[in-house]
Amino acid sequence: MAFESGVLIHTPLICVGCGWCCLDHPCDQSIHRHGYTDRCPELFWSAEASRYLCAMAMDADAGAYIREVQRMGEGCCAPQNRWRTDVKQRD
Ligand code: SF4
Ligand code: SF4
Repeated sequence: MAFESGVLIHTPLICVGCGWCCLDHPCDQSIHRHGYTDRCPELFWSAEASRYLCAMAMDADAGAYIREVQRMGEGCCAPQNRWRTDVKQRD
């Protein structure tokens, strides 16, 4: 945690793939591709990685764009959610 020009800056926590953000609310790219859904069809549990992953982000064609606009790799968007400390398949 630090201040920059009087603004409190939090050091981002890495994404651990808990799935909370995507299960709570599909992102714009999910809505653009699939419409309004209860659950984003792109999200899947990877037994190999023991975390949720985004199929669209791994796509050879669309992956670079969604990774950029969703700022993947720049930290967790919900750092205080409790799923982060108990990563498991939820659905
Ligand atoms: S809530 Fe954070 S840790 Fe969990 S999947 Fe989303 S970005 Fe990753
Ligand atoms: S498209 Fe990817 S990032 Fe967006 S809600 Fe679905 S799984 Fe999450």
